Amino acid sequence: MLTIAVSKGRIYDEALPLLAEAGIIPTDDPNTSRKLILATTRADVQLVIIRATDVPTFVEYGAADLGIAGKDVLIEHGAENLYEPLDLKIARCRLMTAAHKNAPPITGRVRVATKYVKIAEQYFAAQGVQAEIIKLYGSMELAPLVGLADCIVDLVETGNTLRANDLEPRELIMHISSRLVVNKAAMKMKHQVIAELLAQLERKVATR
Ligand code: AMP
Repeated sequence: MLTIAVSKGRIYDEALPLLAEAGIIPTDDPNTSRKLILATTRADVQLVIIRATDVPTFVEYGAADLGIAGKDVLIEHGAENLYEPLDLKIARCRLMTAAHKNAPPITGRVRVATKYVKIAEQYFAAQGVQAEIIKLYGSMELAPLVGLADCIVDLVETGNTLRANDLEPRELIMHISSRLVVNKAAMKMKHQVIAELLAQLERKVATR
């Protein structure tokens, strides 16, 4: 049995057509079902539906053989204990700093609200900017509006969320896309089936 960890939402929606290419079609819809383990049209493949930030953990521990996770999540998690063989080029966006549209450029010490504490620390340190990082779990856009922070570090796709909250993108930290990750032991023990799946996904990604 091959277990693939994936999170609901954007990544799941964009991963479905790729998985279908390998004959993997879930028999339940995680948006309407409360099941956390989904069987698929392939008897030897199941999906586990978990939080995006938990995907590297499940794969590192071998609770899932494979996973699909954003590069942002992988970097923030520090996923060194797993293989990252394929950029699926889905759920593409940018990790950026953003501030109120009327806020002056940042000089001196800055307060930053984000769920990407490690990435933000590294980024501002590399810029030589003294930053106080405030960890949030969501609704980062609110922080500059209520005086909690000078700026945020968050994912930006269209920029609509920022605009709707009178914020604007400032500095690009990195481009993000979702990656296929593989447990190191599984890569050896289940090599044939994983290599086959990888090749199918790779072909599909290349033709898009
Ligand atoms: P947008 O309004 O299109 O710029 O999207 C920004 C919102 O969607 C923010 O709340 C982001 O955290 C979230 N977001 C954008 N892209 C992604 C992605 N690839 N994965 C997860 N969340 C995302």
